[in-house]
Amino acid sequence: MKISVPRVWRELKSHYLLEASVCTKCGKIHYPPRTICDNCKNHKLIRRKLSGEGEVLTYTVQYVVLEGYREHAPIIFAIVKLKEGVNVLAPLTDVKPENVRVGLKVTAVLRKITEDGDLGLIKYGIKFKPMKEFRNEGNVAYESEKRTRKNS
Ligand SMILES: [Zn+2]
Repeated sequence: MKISVPRVWRELKSHYLLEASVCTKCGKIHYPPRTICDNCKNHKLIRRKLSGEGEVLTYTVQYVVLEGYREHAPIIFAIVKLKEGVNVLAPLTDVKPENVRVGLKVTAVLRKITEDGDLGLIKYGIKFKPMKEFRNEGNVAYESEKRTRKNS
């Protein structure tokens, strides 16, 4: 599965609140929220905040990013499958690209996305961080990998 970059930037805005709409008739959860259920065409949907807990389904590392987001490069974008069964596209945080795996357990946090220097506006959005910390692990794994290669 490939992640389309325009889709990433377009969907960033809807991540401010991790809210979904739930169909009152068939129970289908829609994220981003919809006003009409695409399953049963019901117009009565209620808003529900998602748990924010899930696992990485797929990810991509972007080294070249848009103006205003450069301080965050490289950005790891992931599609996270939440416990509720819906997929959310958002950047990962507090993790190095080499520590990201498909199936990594993550939880949503509200973080600064960008700062508009002229207007002094700070935009916040949802990011996902690993449930377990990777303080030294990445370096240790890298070191042992290097040693193995030298011996072979
Ligand atoms: Zn429905």
